[in-house]
Amino acid sequence: VLNFAPGPSPLPLEVLLEVQKELPDWNGTGISVLEMSHRSKDFMGIYYETVKNLRELYGISDEYEVLFVQGGGHMEFAMVPLNFNFYGTGNYLVNGVWSQKAFKEAVKLGSAAEAARVVNRVPRQDEIAMSEEAGYLYYCSNETVNGIQYHYVPQSEAILVSDMSSDFLSKPVDISKYGLIYAGAQKNFGPAGLTVVIVKKDLLGNCSPTTPSMLDYLTYANSESMYNTPPTFAIYVSCLVSRWLLDQGGVQEMQRRSVVKSSMLYDVIDGSAGFYTNKVEKDSRSLMNVVFNLADESLNDEFLAKARERNIVNIKGHRIVGGMRASLYNAVTIEATEKLAEFMKDFKASH
Ligand code: PLP
Repeated sequence: VLNFAPGPSPLPLEVLLEVQKELPDWNGTGISVLEMSHRSKDFMGIYYETVKNLRELYGISDEYEVLFVQGGGHMEFAMVPLNFNFYGTGNYLVNGVWSQKAFKEAVKLGSAAEAARVVNRVPRQDEIAMSEEAGYLYYCSNETVNGIQYHYVPQSEAILVSDMSSDFLSKPVDISKYGLIYAGAQKNFGPAGLTVVIVKKDLLGNCSPTTPSMLDYLTYANSESMYNTPPTFAIYVSCLVSRWLLDQGGVQEMQRRSVVKSSMLYDVIDGSAGFYTNKVEKDSRSLMNVVFNLADESLNDEFLAKARERNIVNIKGHRIVGGMRASLYNAVTIEATEKLAEFMKDFKASH
């Protein structure tokens, strides 16, 4: 099956097979990784390797913590203001479903302002209007539902924060520009249940005293992310994915593949004489989530059914926006994407 799911999304087949092989007996210990104490030497080894591989993949310096949190992107929407309100107003770039949701949560938790609001594209640098006493600038690097991605890094005097859930590890990132980056693992990194937070150490420790311990990043930093029981299985699978990424050539190679894969689909859309449409401005198009509509929406069900006949699954758009969406995360192969492009051309030709 060719799976273009938006999240949870495909994992590399090699990783799944390794999990299968190791599941009943991890590394000759006679027990499964599912049955292991998170504080055991064996599990700590898996944890250390995952952090080390992430540091290597992104070139993360010692000035940053790499934390493993639970609660997904939605909990980060709250943790960011709870940890960073101390620095001043959260300034949000709103250009899609997820940045909007994060902004609303920040409003609930104190002071937040919109520094830009646009649709079908990312805001340009010269459109970013920071509020007085801005503490941090927040943006979502890839709007998963809307198929919109930043191809530049927004700048301001404030601390830079980004939700990279859906383009995590898909291209090189200069971490030193950021105060904090977070990403739910379930798209490009591993199973649902794990959220990776990369945060500059000197920004921690300024939550209000009433902040619950589990919502304070410092709690995680002070306990090797093991203040409570972490999602051990998700960390283990992500560890294998991080090894796979290094073997494949790292984030540079993932970026090369993403360009190849997304171009294939955008070429079909742009060359379809309006049969397929994409509303996103060209320089804001996502390399991860290619959204499109059929000009004749009455063909949607037939399109999905015919795709299924060719083993192409999970290309229905998000319920909020409708249409179609093909997600091209790291584990989606160039060959699978070729088959989807071929199907789209054939479907058009037969109509
Ligand atoms: N941010 C982005 C960019 C997402 O794509 C998603 C989910 O798809 C979220 C946040 C929310 O993540 P979660 O469901 O893990 O809370």
